[in-house]
Amino acid sequence: MSRPQCCRRISQEPPCAVFKPTSIPARFLEEIVLTLDEFEALRLADLNGLYHEQAAASMNVSRQTFGRIIDTARRKTAEALILGKALRIEGGKVEMAGMRQFKCQDCLHTWELPFGGGCPEGCPNCGGANFRRENCGGRDGGEGQIRKRCCHRGANP
Ligand SMILES: [Zn+2]
Repeated sequence: MSRPQCCRRISQEPPCAVFKPTSIPARFLEEIVLTLDEFEALRLADLNGLYHEQAAASMNVSRQTFGRIIDTARRKTAEALILGKALRIEGGKVEMAGMRQFKCQDCLHTWELPFGGGCPEGCPNCGGANFRRENCGGRDGGEGQIRKRCCHRGANP
């Protein structure tokens, strides 16, 4: 059984949101947007030297998808460097790697599970099925806002 394809997993946020050439005011610069999944692909493949298979597994995507992400990321980065454009790193459908947090709506029990194990059967405290993800960390493509609810379940609060 396959999990719903929702988020590309990243394990590190960029140290800053915008890189720009010095001495050129931002209003004169053309800006290129590098999404967080593209940033993560560069970090894994080009900085850490991972094979595409390993990097794809780390991001929870197929090798083909990873290939597309890294190609786009490299082209955008090269364009910024060579043509002197600003690079803004934001957006993309991503979630931070870490523990998944669940909360039971019946008894208010909260618990955590690592990523990749599928959804729990029921609340470990009362056995009820009325629980939801608390900290998916899924981001909205446009605004980079962290959604409070998981995108797998109960997407609309
Ligand atoms: Zn419960």
